[in-house]
Amino acid sequence: MINNVLKLVRYNIKKLRPYQSARRIGGGNGLIWLNANESPLSIPFKLKKKSFNRYPECQPIDLISSYAKYVNLSFEQVLATRGADEGIELLIKAFCEPEKDAIIYCPPTYDMYQVNANMANVKIKEIPTIKNTWELDLLSIQSNLKTVKLVYICNPNNPTGNIILKKDLLFLLKITLGRALVVIDEAYIEFSPEDSMVSFLKDYSHLVILRTLSKAFGLAGIRCGFTLANKVIIEILNKVITPYPISIPVMDIAVQSLQKNYITLMKDRVSELNLNRIWLINQLNELDCIDKVFESHANYILVKFFMFEKIFQMLWNKGIILRNQNNKMNLKECIRISIGTRSECFSLIQELKNFSKNNIF
Ligand code: PMP
Repeated sequence: MINNVLKLVRYNIKKLRPYQSARRIGGGNGLIWLNANESPLSIPFKLKKKSFNRYPECQPIDLISSYAKYVNLSFEQVLATRGADEGIELLIKAFCEPEKDAIIYCPPTYDMYQVNANMANVKIKEIPTIKNTWELDLLSIQSNLKTVKLVYICNPNNPTGNIILKKDLLFLLKITLGRALVVIDEAYIEFSPEDSMVSFLKDYSHLVILRTLSKAFGLAGIRCGFTLANKVIIEILNKVITPYPISIPVMDIAVQSLQKNYITLMKDRVSELNLNRIWLINQLNELDCIDKVFESHANYILVKFFMFEKIFQMLWNKGIILRNQNNKMNLKECIRISIGTRSECFSLIQELKNFSKNNIF
């Protein structure tokens, strides 16, 4: 019977390697969670809405107008989604013909561009960034644009932490004009707000920006993101979105988080985490077990270790859960560390200091 069911599964889904999220991988008896780029701090909210017998609006007006105000765009340029992840999926659904069209992405980067293309049976073209500087290989992107409908760029890039130069993004927008959409994933942009491309939406009708409340806003648990683009693209995406993507409790909390006092709180916490990042980088650079700490503009850092496997396991056993990046393109012996509270960062450094003392590199 089970064999019969398996025979029914689409071929590309049978072959699919699902996204290895931090929750899917788990974390043993974790005490300090630095593996999912979440905020280490929770903000208390009270639910204002008390009745749930009615369906929510598909695109709740309060939510859309609050986010539009936050990013200084008009109402028609904003789509609310179940996390930025749903935005990635909707774009592929709406713009790519299965088995015919392709997307471009630039590894090492966020895996969900690839996973969503594979799920939809859309072709992928990987154009790796330049090793260690992580800059885009623009000439290679330019010569590979045939059949490409979407170019996904993550900025700041996850897991490397670098920013893509604005001049490179503008060049990319020029070479893709009339051919493909450029989708800039700004999930972490609040940690480096001056690098946002939102102000260019008025100049480029093929620019799309993905945002989320999961990172700087500290709301990964509610699953709320946004796609920003011109009105025509938002209307197209509204055709393929599920009927009620944003539940009433999600909308309630998300709207509160976008009010002035919460935005101030979010910005204070971003400043605190950015200071923790600087502190952590300085401390790591003093340790013998570190080969290289990459510069970062987000709430995580990429670190290349000597004896990486032993160190990853030692920390795991002590309940400090990090994200192994060793199997990703050009990231041999690298680990990604999300920025936690100062005391979490301190505990990590203490363990690494002890390890460095007892080992020769
Ligand atoms: N883009 C990037 C670069 C991410 O790292 C993540 C989350 N890990 C997402 C998008 C998805 O965010 P959300 O929680 O809003 O779905």
